[in-house]
Amino acid sequence: CGIVGYTGHENAKDIVIDGLKKLEYRGYDSAGIALLGDGTLTVRKKAGRIANLEKAISGEKLFGTTGIGHTRWATHGSPTDTNAHPHMSGDGEIAIVHNGIIENYQEIKEELIREHGITFQSETDSEVIAQLLGVLYDGDLEKAVAEAVKRFEGAYTFVAVAKKQPDLMVAYRKDTPLVAGLGKDCNFLASDVTPLLRYLDEVYLINNGEMVVCTPDRIRIYDENRRLVSRDPLKITWSV
Ligand code: GLU
Repeated sequence: CGIVGYTGHENAKDIVIDGLKKLEYRGYDSAGIALLGDGTLTVRKKAGRIANLEKAISGEKLFGTTGIGHTRWATHGSPTDTNAHPHMSGDGEIAIVHNGIIENYQEIKEELIREHGITFQSETDSEVIAQLLGVLYDGDLEKAVAEAVKRFEGAYTFVAVAKKQPDLMVAYRKDTPLVAGLGKDCNFLASDVTPLLRYLDEVYLINNGEMVVCTPDRIRIYDENRRLVSRDPLKITWSV
């Protein structure tokens, strides 16, 4: 229901968790985070409030300079730890957070099980995004996302990260909100601007069918035909 992503040079953990708290008003039943460090991709997720997640990881030294977080409003699968986002590909290479509903997830899920022997961990529709990306990924996340979205029907704004590309977030927007924020030596993705206001004052509003490729020094937006979009950022003149 709420998405936050950060890529930069600080530890993403606190920035992402703080951002999720700013999205609490959207309502949720579970929360989770994925952190990309040097050759590591760590996922932690918990049913209940964000405080539950914070408590569960308080004893751990988690570090990553890219991080994605999610607060879930369960539509497919009960609000359990396992069904919470992020979801990972079977080989642990990819993690995603998703906002919306993949209407044709059952068909894709059956195909991935039948043709690729994938074992699904959760009851969610969202896990098909992670598992399909895992199958399509050959070292280029941007390409895998562009391929994968051709398969999905429904509302599927999501952010994906890959262990082998630790300075990268790739997002796609379809029928649920997404903004990209321009920071100083860092960039952000979020469901709305509220988590970003303390870090920056320039955002790109992302339209349906657009893919966003974020690194610490750059945000690129592509249209449905994978053509680079040139768009001026919006100056935010208010704060909360
Ligand atoms: N349909 C997904 C799920 O139930 C995502 C829900 C959301 O947008 O939070 O896990």
